[in-house]
Amino acid sequence: MSKTNWAGNVKFEPAIDVIAETEEQVEQCIQRAIQENLSLRMMGSGHSFYPLAATSGISLSIDGLDGIVAVDPSRSEGWVWAGTKIKALGEKLHSMGYAMENLGDIDVQSIAGAVSTGTHGTGIRFGSISTQVVGVEFWNGLGKKVEIHSKKNPELLDAVRVSLGALGVITKLQLKLQPKYVLEMKQTKESLSKLLSQLPEEIQGKRNFEFFWFPHTDTALVKRSQISIEEPLKPTLGQKFNDIVLENMALGALSGICRWVPAVTSSVSKFCAAAAGESHRRDWSHRVFATERWVKFVEMEYSVPLESFAEVIREIQSEIKTSGYRVHFPIECRIVKGDSIWLSPAHGRDSALIAVHMYRGMPYRTYFNAMEKIFRKYGGRPHWGKLHTLTASDLQFIYPKWNEFQKLRKEMDPNSIFMTPELSQIFGESPQAVLSSRSA
Ligand SMILES: Cc1cc2nc3c(=O)[nH]c(=O)nc-3n(C[C@H](O)[C@H](O)[C@H](O)COP(=O)(O)OP(=O)(O)OC[C@H]3O[C@@H](n4cnc5c(N)ncnc54)[C@H](O)[C@@H]3O)c2cc1C
Repeated sequence: MSKTNWAGNVKFEPAIDVIAETEEQVEQCIQRAIQENLSLRMMGSGHSFYPLAATSGISLSIDGLDGIVAVDPSRSEGWVWAGTKIKALGEKLHSMGYAMENLGDIDVQSIAGAVSTGTHGTGIRFGSISTQVVGVEFWNGLGKKVEIHSKKNPELLDAVRVSLGALGVITKLQLKLQPKYVLEMKQTKESLSKLLSQLPEEIQGKRNFEFFWFPHTDTALVKRSQISIEEPLKPTLGQKFNDIVLENMALGALSGICRWVPAVTSSVSKFCAAAAGESHRRDWSHRVFATERWVKFVEMEYSVPLESFAEVIREIQSEIKTSGYRVHFPIECRIVKGDSIWLSPAHGRDSALIAVHMYRGMPYRTYFNAMEKIFRKYGGRPHWGKLHTLTASDLQFIYPKWNEFQKLRKEMDPNSIFMTPELSQIFGESPQAVLSSRSA
């Protein structure tokens, strides 16, 4: 049966489709891949734009390994099954009095999928979701269980926390938790040039800070959040209708017009900037982080050193103005604290994350290529789950721990069962070498 990702830009036909409900089934899957010379790729919620989960061999979902295993209140840490979806995780933790310190802007991913690609939210005091992982249990390419903990083997933890499913199948994750908290989020419309002139203060000023800039305008929609000691405010039906139905439906309808008549794209962006509304929410944190995304798009996102943030945005502004790209989706700008994870785009540096989008079905390559050129000029590193064109020959120079990761990958997966043509591009394996290591 053919499978597809959320955006619809990745389609593949696995020979075998498995939904594991036990760790024994995961182990059996790995043994079968070894014996039958098949590639094995794990699929979370299929929300990556890059074909990381695609395979013609075995497609493994661990949706059946779901829920909370145990929480240790004395350390505020909890083991969870790695197939748990972030939304369910948020609600389950909440009912036990806990929350995660930061999350991305949707909550439909599996926690394993989000961690494996370095999925992040925003805020200078917080790393990606992967940095909230303090322990991992995974099954490597030999079908052996590997147990990792920050106290016992911190180096290995830094290798596994962002590993694109190239080291093994993660079945359990231990997460650092917080007592549950209420977040108050204010969304305002502001001038981009003013925002860029005061970025350092803005970044330091609020717990969570991000903005969406509408191309072809000087308008940005800014979201700032702080912890609140007030009670949560239940969103009214009208607010829900406005946030979910109107915003998604109006954007969908306008995007359809842009795809049909591309010449109106910059006017649509200006219209969206003018129509964008201010809003206010106060609710439990996991509900405030999450937004609904009904309109399908493709996306590229790069991390650049925080010091270059404003300069990169100005260069993007100038490139869009000069080349007149037909884009109406806002450019999303977020902040992530630097970390020590080997393949994290924020490895060793506080970073700005800049994401460009294109409505599904509209041409995006020329625009994304131009943006990627700018990101790379500033030492950019791509988000693993989003579109990019880098291969091992580029990646080895932008990740200081690249060679160590490659060595570990070969130890963990000597038969290359986790390699596919797409993964081989990233890790620089020739498809022939992969086939011969599988059949050796
Ligand atoms: C609408 C939308 C909004 C998004 N918002 C954000 C955002 O706010 N911030 C951000 O950083 N990213 C964001 N993303 C990107 C998304 O979070 C990542 O691509 C994430 O990896 C998707 O999780 P998933 O469960 O769908 O995993 P998949 O896309 O299915 O898989 C991702 C990777 O994880 C691996 N994997 C899955 N399960 C396992 C396992 N059990 N063991 C080992 N490896 C495994 C897969 O093999 C693959 O390599 C967004 C994407 C979309 C479509």
